[in-house]
Amino acid sequence: MPLHDKFGRAITDLRISITDHCNYKCVYCRTGNEGAIYADLPFADYLRMARVLVGLGITKIRLTGGEPLLRKGVVEFVRELAKLRPVIDGAPDGVVRGADGGVRPSPDSDPLDVALTTNGHLLADLAQPLKAAGLTRVTVSMDAVDPDRFARITRVPSGFDNVLAGIRAARHTGLWPVKVNCVLLRGFNEDQIIPFGMFAREEGVTVRFIEFMPLEEDRMWSRATVVTLDEILSRMSEYRPLVEIPHARSETARRYRFDDGIGEIGIIAPVSHPFCGHCSRIRITSDGKIRTCLFSVWDHDLHAQMRRGASDEQLAEFIRGVVARKEERHHIGEPDFVPASRTMVHIGG
Ligand code: SAM
Repeated sequence: MPLHDKFGRAITDLRISITDHCNYKCVYCRTGNEGAIYADLPFADYLRMARVLVGLGITKIRLTGGEPLLRKGVVEFVRELAKLRPVIDGAPDGVVRGADGGVRPSPDSDPLDVALTTNGHLLADLAQPLKAAGLTRVTVSMDAVDPDRFARITRVPSGFDNVLAGIRAARHTGLWPVKVNCVLLRGFNEDQIIPFGMFAREEGVTVRFIEFMPLEEDRMWSRATVVTLDEILSRMSEYRPLVEIPHARSETARRYRFDDGIGEIGIIAPVSHPFCGHCSRIRITSDGKIRTCLFSVWDHDLHAQMRRGASDEQLAEFIRGVVARKEERHHIGEPDFVPASRTMVHIGG
């Protein structure tokens, strides 16, 4: 059996944070100071973790951070990941073994889906090498289409042009579809909704609005700061009517096309419309811990198992045990909500 938790959810989607350093200091994410930084691991260690997890049924890997493009060697790492093949028909326990008993991916299946989430600051120069190395998709975070507002949110005066150039370079290299993620925060950027609708149409990208979650360093979240799915839809419809696109249950975003067929937007609404029941995701932090939920109050030290000399089979057993205990759902906004043990920049979004 591929990885399943005790609620019967299949785990097929892995996010790996390859650093928790970031060159942006977005106001809704960070305090503005560098703060504590966890260790980055050698790529060989992330690769081994990825190989074992692919052997257990992971079919998608997304690299994130911190800012993943700050890591030298990221292109080579993508090249190695892209060589992995998802398991199509494993042994009865879902694990394909090599002659040495180690977990191996199947050689016959489709390539792994290797994606990246980035702030786009360094993407213009890296889009082509990443695509050539086997990256399938890129998501660029961008919280305003107005350059001054962008600078105020990111606290980086000159970033806007770089990010725009990165988005355009990604499109031109054929990293399709390019998704642009925008976290909306009341009082900061909710007036950017319609400009982002125009941007999606003009630039040929899918813009996805994300509801703000309580994962920031400053602990400023309250329900009132969240711009909800309903509000985004109603504001965007003042610009042009939207038509909902059917989406897979496991997709986090609700998808909409403008009525004339030009331009797509998505809305990821973990606060107003939680999708925990269909969650297929686990994460590995830059210091090698498994997190089974963004809102986990503890993490599970996979790298410590490696340091102790665990075999691939023992790592697989450890992972199965951790995944089995994945949280049923988050409790955002409820009286019993306990803040996550790490903030977003140290988890990997
Ligand atoms: N540096 C990369 C980037 O900017 O995309 C990857 C890491 S960043 C933490 C990943 C995503 O998480 C970004 O789209 C960011 O806007 C989003 N994010 C950060 N804090 C968030 C929060 N509290 N709620 C919702 N999304 C958040």
